[in-house]
Amino acid sequence: MNTRELQDRIIELKKKKDVCILAHAYQSHAIWEIADYTGDSFGLSQKAAETTAKTVIMCGVRFMAETVKTLNPDKKVILANPEADCPMARQFDLADVNYFKQQNPDAAVCAYINTTADLKRSVDIVVTSSSAVTILRKIPEQKILFIPDRNLGAYVAAQIPEKEFIYVQGGCPTHQRVKASMSKSVLEAHPSALLLAHPECLPEITAMADYVGSTTGIIDYAVNSSEKEFIIGTESSIVEHLQFMCPEKKFYALHKDLVCHNMRLTTLGDIYNCLLDNGGEEITLPEQVRLESLKPIQRMIALG
Ligand code: SF4
Repeated sequence: MNTRELQDRIIELKKKKDVCILAHAYQSHAIWEIADYTGDSFGLSQKAAETTAKTVIMCGVRFMAETVKTLNPDKKVILANPEADCPMARQFDLADVNYFKQQNPDAAVCAYINTTADLKRSVDIVVTSSSAVTILRKIPEQKILFIPDRNLGAYVAAQIPEKEFIYVQGGCPTHQRVKASMSKSVLEAHPSALLLAHPECLPEITAMADYVGSTTGIIDYAVNSSEKEFIIGTESSIVEHLQFMCPEKKFYALHKDLVCHNMRLTTLGDIYNCLLDNGGEEITLPEQVRLESLKPIQRMIALG
């Protein structure tokens, strides 16, 4: 089967079996084309709640499927490729969080949504990259221990100077690997292009950027801007998606190494196999874990 034939079979099967396909923004364009919804991890969880389908297939990494399950316990949630995991989500675990809390009893522990359900059980609040500033400004605590992404934490802290932030040494290996010196040639080759960067990038990159925001924020900014050229400082799949969305504009990757190999693991073949009940992994969470990890997410929703 070629790509088009495989996509047609997937579309036919998902309709027949009443399955909803969720695709994270960093999935390939071929997957976007067969997805019911595309977006960031929290946005996809909300879409899962809206669909009437009883089964959802998550094309993304494991913590995203866990978040979908946490917020949608009555749905069958399948992670399309069980090997797709986020290395940042594994940098700390529940025992680490409990230790951090002991060491900083007066701080609220805030976890980026890119963490496991098990870790979320013990944190005070969860944030996404697009909601972090708004939410952490609103919480009453003055001292915030932000995990795991130090770059995102530092970016958020700079917007909320009235609060004290504490970090640990974590971060996204994909975004962290690009240094300002590595992007010099792209910036010099396209001097009139705007640099749009994700806050998971190193501070030396976000300091140069014309716009800093979540993946969805970057897409919206580029689509709505009257400018014609953009350098994209996030996972390079966004360059491909934006080029399809805005063929009259030009998009360049900040660096060729801005590739998340975990996000690239999922293929159309994986989705097809899930639909044939011959692949993927059903995500289950013990009810106590689900309820405990739901609490800081609900606090985010209430404040956001
Ligand atoms: S891009 Fe970074 S944060 Fe996102 S899944 Fe990959 S490693 Fe994790």
